[in-house]
Amino acid sequence: MPELRKDPIVGRWVIISTDRAKRPTDFTRDQVKLRGGFCPFCYGNENKTPSEVLAYRPAQNGAAAPKDSPGWTVRVVPNKFPALGIEGNIGRQAEGMFDKMNGIGAHEVVIETPEHTKTLASLPERRIEDVLWAFRDRILDLKQDKRFRYILIFKNHGEAAGASLEHAHCQLIALPIVPKQVVEELDGAKEYYRYKERCIFCDIIRQESEVGARVVAENQDFVSLAPYAPRFPFETWVLPKRHESAFENSPSTVYESLARALKTVLTKMDSVLDNPAYNLVIHSSPTQETTNDYYHWHIEIMPKLTKTAGFEWGTGFYINPTPPEEAARFLREATVETSPPPATAPALAR
Ligand SMILES: [Zn+2]
Ligand SMILES: [Zn+2]
Ligand SMILES: [Zn+2]
Repeated sequence: MPELRKDPIVGRWVIISTDRAKRPTDFTRDQVKLRGGFCPFCYGNENKTPSEVLAYRPAQNGAAAPKDSPGWTVRVVPNKFPALGIEGNIGRQAEGMFDKMNGIGAHEVVIETPEHTKTLASLPERRIEDVLWAFRDRILDLKQDKRFRYILIFKNHGEAAGASLEHAHCQLIALPIVPKQVVEELDGAKEYYRYKERCIFCDIIRQESEVGARVVAENQDFVSLAPYAPRFPFETWVLPKRHESAFENSPSTVYESLARALKTVLTKMDSVLDNPAYNLVIHSSPTQETTNDYYHWHIEIMPKLTKTAGFEWGTGFYINPTPPEEAARFLREATVETSPPPATAPALAR
């Protein structure tokens, strides 16, 4: 018998097929493969992108390297084809009963590595940490612009997940509104808090750690788990164990742990699902209320294994062919080498 499950945060129902549960090998996937060709994000092509807004490069002979020169580890540039424009004012207005405003926003690209063949999962932890610091630096900068209400960081990995360039990168969009999906999470979390005076995410972390069945991995500061009512097979969330409402407010030591947690989860996914395309989003508090007791920032990772079809569009329901307990077990049991490898690291268990 299939099961209907409700997400406790947003109240969204999903259908979990339990009878003919799909295992990792049952999905026909678009494995992410490199095709090569000219790439504006590669080392040496710095003049093929808009001028950088941020880059980390080790200082050469004590002197800071010039802008848009090689030698960087992470580089942030404005998107060449931005979804929104940075200049101007919001200009909220009515059109009869309808509302509109100018398409103001920032749209940036975080190039995660100068090397074309690397992925976020295959970068050394130290380099992943650089990427996370770049997110933080950009958020802190853009937050000063009072036109922006929300800053979303997301990643499309692989063509099937919507990536137009294969070189490892994330995108950042600063918006003059709080997006609806985030509003739903905020409202759900607020309501739970009003009722129980506890953060719903903290409660989820506590209960899932006790139960264990949906936990994928864990380190000192982060837990990775399959949510109780996931929309997609192998959907995985990464949450800080200590309550923190905004990504950029995290204590500086946390980014190192997060780099390790991300590398673990992404490497496990690559191993179990054979380099799947995926989307990753960081959900954090809106820029104008970054410190609160009810919302808990987190990362959602959604491998692209199924297609959204008419039923999903028509209902907002999702049909998930893999129970989260099974997805979590496959990911948990996949042994992957992360640095430093344990002294008795077993061979890849597959
Ligand atoms: Zn490249
Ligand atoms: Zn919390
Ligand atoms: Zn979320």
